[in-house]
Parts: sequence; structure tokens; C-alpha cells
Amino acid sequence: MQKVPLLRLHANIDTRVSSIRASHPDWQCARGCATCCRQLADVPQLTAAEWALLKQGLAALPPQRLADIRSKVDDLARAPSRPVVCPMLDETEGACPVYAQRPVACRSYGFYVQRDLGLYCKDIEARVAAGELPDVVWGNHDAVDHTLGALGESRPLTEWFAREAAEE
Ligand code: SF4
Ligand code: SF4
Repeated sequence: MQKVPLLRLHANIDTRVSSIRASHPDWQCARGCATCCRQLADVPQLTAAEWALLKQGLAALPPQRLADIRSKVDDLARAPSRPVVCPMLDETEGACPVYAQRPVACRSYGFYVQRDLGLYCKDIEARVAAGELPDVVWGNHDAVDHTLGALGESRPLTEWFAREAAEE
């Protein structure tokens, strides 16, 4: 069961995020700041452990909300386009309805770098370019990917939904 390693990874990310927030109380990333959720480079990828957790969050949603998400996932599977608007994003609230169960990539985004690439939005990129954040100790996403790799194969969100539908 990969739940424990996943929760350990969440805790590690939370530690890095808390540290950055503590040194920069004005950090913008929070539930409700969803620009990045509307501009995903690709369909979210999840390991089985992440999907199992996400399903718990989805199961707690009102049936109509879940039906809307399924419909958006189907649309995305049929006609993928880039950038991807996350099918789980609640456009009315402008927020993630499964925030507590969101995938690892969503937890680390805004606080991590991968080699020379900052994994954050244009707003944070602008602050970095302006030299406003020289003291930030960014998380290392290679280490996150290494841990995720040990949790098994990642699949696109669309595929997880399709597999589940096929089993019903
Ligand atoms: S990365 Fe940017 S758009 Fe995404 S939550 Fe953080 S501040 Fe908001
Ligand atoms: S799962 Fe939630 S946090 Fe992640 S991209 Fe989708 S709406 Fe945004």
C-alpha cells in the first residue's frame, strides 16, 4: 500500500511550503488563486496512490458537481488542447473542490524548481526576475519525482477516470 509514502511526501512538501510562507507571509499561492489551474501544460498525471486519495475527495462532492467534472474529463479525453484547464476546477468559486486531496504536482507548484526551471506561474516568475525573492530556498522537484517514481506508474487523469468507468 502506497498511502503512507504518499502522505510522507505530502508532509515533506508541506514543510518546504511552510518554510517559504514563514519567510514570505505575502506568498500568493492559496486555495482560490487558480490561474495555474487554468493553464496546465498537460493533463494532470497521477500515481495510483494519488488517484486513490483524489477519489476520496471526488466521492464527497455533490453528485451534480461530480457529473460536471466527469463531463469535462470526457471532453478533455476526446479533444485535448493546450493549455489545459483542470477539469476539477470549480469555475464558480474559482477554487479547487478537492484541495485536501489534490495531486502532488498541485501541492508543490509555486514552491519548487527543477534544475533551472522554476515550477511557478508568471506572477512568481516576475518577482524572481525582479530580484524580490533571493532568499527563497526552493524545493527540489527532482527529489519529489524520485519519490513519486517509487510509488508506481503515473497515468493521465483522463485515463484514471476511463479505467474507473470501465470497471463500473
Ligand atoms: S503558482 Fe501562481 S497562480 Fe498558482 S497558486 Fe501560486 S500564485 Fe496562484
Ligand atoms: S486538482 Fe485542484 S489544485 Fe490541482 S490543478 Fe486541478 S483544480 Fe488546480
